[in-house]
Amino acid sequence: MEPVERAAALRDYAEQTAGCTKCTLAAGRTQVVFGSGNPNAELMFVGEAPGFHEDQQGLPFVGQAGKLLERLLEGIGLTRGDVYIANVLKCRPPGNRDPVPDEIAACEPHLFRQIELIEPTMVATLGNFATKLLSSRPAGITRVHGFEQDVTLGARRVLLYPLYHPAAALYTPSMLKVLEEDFARIPDLLARSTGESVTPDAEIAAEPVQTEPAVQLGLF
Ligand code: URA
Repeated sequence: MEPVERAAALRDYAEQTAGCTKCTLAAGRTQVVFGSGNPNAELMFVGEAPGFHEDQQGLPFVGQAGKLLERLLEGIGLTRGDVYIANVLKCRPPGNRDPVPDEIAACEPHLFRQIELIEPTMVATLGNFATKLLSSRPAGITRVHGFEQDVTLGARRVLLYPLYHPAAALYTPSMLKVLEEDFARIPDLLARSTGESVTPDAEIAAEPVQTEPAVQLGLF
């Protein structure tokens, strides 16, 4: 898809999504937080769900966790405008509680459609919910953070890169250090994913490959 077409298609889909009533979160939200950034980004970030500030402003990651995400991006020479940022859930769960399976099931078509339209070569998942959903594996973020995986999302091969959620890293210095180290690998991985984006169809059908982590920290 041409860049202009892609941006228009994403905007149309955001408009369709603005009135979503597929789950009970619709009743308590201020607005749907669809996602923001570059519709033609090679790198997409997927977090968990909007919090208070996101619900108020209609944009993902605008609170404290968002500030940390921006700082981490800056550290690798990127800004929010270079990437696309979305969440598993598009509406704020009451009191910022964890998403429940029904909500994830109702909302995931929106995320998959976004990925289909944006066609990123690399998706960095922030925290457990995005990682489990997009890897289709039950392994928690403590085990898999920093280990890239080849996954097939829709019809495309994508490099999935699980990271700790910035909100979790905000108050835990050891986790922040790991997040920074994992983040530092993004430029190389992104270059690799872009180079491999012309994977032949035969390989796309292959099983996803996962590198097993050497350590298990057992924090979650
Ligand atoms: N945490 C998330 O997972 N997403 C946001 O948009 C904000 C905080």
